[in-house]
Amino acid sequence: MIKILLSAGHGAGNIHNRGGLYFNEGDNNYYYSLILKTELEKYNNVVVNLVRKNINDNPQINDRSKMGEGYDLYFSIHSNAAGSTVRGTEVWDSVETPNKTLAQAICDATADLFNHNNRGVKHREGQPGFNYYGELRFNKAKSAMIVENGFHTNHDDCLFFKNNHELIAKAQAEVIAKHYKLDKRKIEDEISSWAKDAQQWVIENRVSDGTNPKSNVTREQLWQMLYNYHRRVNGNG
Ligand SMILES: [Zn+2]
Repeated sequence: MIKILLSAGHGAGNIHNRGGLYFNEGDNNYYYSLILKTELEKYNNVVVNLVRKNINDNPQINDRSKMGEGYDLYFSIHSNAAGSTVRGTEVWDSVETPNKTLAQAICDATADLFNHNNRGVKHREGQPGFNYYGELRFNKAKSAMIVENGFHTNHDDCLFFKNNHELIAKAQAEVIAKHYKLDKRKIEDEISSWAKDAQQWVIENRVSDGTNPKSNVTREQLWQMLYNYHRRVNGNG
């Protein structure tokens, strides 16, 4: 089982405004973390937890670092700030527990999607041998990294991040899954081969919409399906 902790940077609302043109960074990071969690959970053998379970949560940097213990991956979600013309994605990989392969793959896939500069994987030391960034310093996760998804101070980067959570999350989840050799969860809507003709028939005859093949049926749903069928054979359906 692979354990991943998503740390959406900063706190909620205007009070934590980091100068984003179309969002408060802390809000956007939080909403993005929910989508990334959903996308990661489409794979088997993975547990995904959130540092910010609610949008108003904002643990101290040192506490966030401590929360990494027991995880395979501590994945910190941010967007960057600079002058309005600066664009690009960069990943700050842990000095203490580097995972350059994964950090590079995340950086490449994200920069490709944004179609902007790939600023690459970086390491920043504070005390020799230790991370400068507090979230990564003393973080006991096996791998820890801060992903700067574009610059929220640039119109194109900020808009792209805001409008493409699902696209970015799918790409980053795919990179993470590949790295940890996770298989995609089997779609529960897979129809048993023996039931395929019947499914086609209920849809064509408007007895049922043919969805949720493995779900239980309630009494009222059964009544409705019988009623649909009855109306159908009597020519009123
Ligand atoms: Zn940030």
